[in-house]
Amino acid sequence: MFVQNQLLRLSQGQLNLLESCPHKFQNTYLEQLRPPTNPEYEEKQLLGSRFHLLMQQREMGLKIRSFLQTDSQLETWMRAFAITAPDILTPASASETFRESEHLRTLQVQNYLLTAIYDLLIADKQKAEILDWKTYRQPPNKRKLQNDWQTRLYMYVLAESSDYLPENISMTYWFVQSESKPHSIKFNYSSLQHQQTEKKLNQVLNKLTKWLQAYQQGEQFPQLPEGSKTCNYCQYASRCQRVSVNSKEKSSQDLPGVDSNLVNLANIQEVPL
Ligand code: SF4
Repeated sequence: MFVQNQLLRLSQGQLNLLESCPHKFQNTYLEQLRPPTNPEYEEKQLLGSRFHLLMQQREMGLKIRSFLQTDSQLETWMRAFAITAPDILTPASASETFRESEHLRTLQVQNYLLTAIYDLLIADKQKAEILDWKTYRQPPNKRKLQNDWQTRLYMYVLAESSDYLPENISMTYWFVQSESKPHSIKFNYSSLQHQQTEKKLNQVLNKLTKWLQAYQQGEQFPQLPEGSKTCNYCQYASRCQRVSVNSKEKSSQDLPGVDSNLVNLANIQEVPL
């Protein structure tokens, strides 16, 4: 059984998908069905990755001017960010005791290894701030962002894996491509939120364990109820028979056929104990 002698690695993205639709999680991570490529989306993703890499290189003290000279978009973002948030790009006030980009933390909860990668972590003796860069144009509203597993998990993992009290932890998202100039949304953590996240996390993981066990016996992860709006925008709508016949024909060409009963837990990264 997968629950013995191994951990399953889980990210915030996987937790979000589980909450959004367990069946989508099965399709995406257990069976690795991939939607058709979208060149425009991939280009944006690539640009976002390059911005993250640039920020990391800058943090490591490497020269980035030559990269900026060959990419006007990155250059524009970086210049605007430097004007809006100079204190972030100009580090090392004497009180800062720790500062690292792409800081990785893991935390075991039940049989899962929860993984968080902070774009930048800045800490001193009293407090720690997680920073995250976002390069998409339209920021989500604050409430939605607060409920996103990235916000909940990232602060939870830091509180559990350090000596910082929840009240001394915060997370700030920087939207570098906002309409006028880069802007940020900050969340302060609390002991109450920490308890709520712990409870919710355990509920989600308990369900996942149950679904994984059933999946190994040939059962499917639950689908959303018929008529759910989320299905209208889902790339698996055809497989789930949630679309009209015409659109079904079209979208069935989009995904390669895969035996949906295939038990392939190896697609979730495992960590030997
Ligand atoms: S179509 Fe609906 S039920 Fe099927 S995977 Fe997508 S969201 Fe889930």
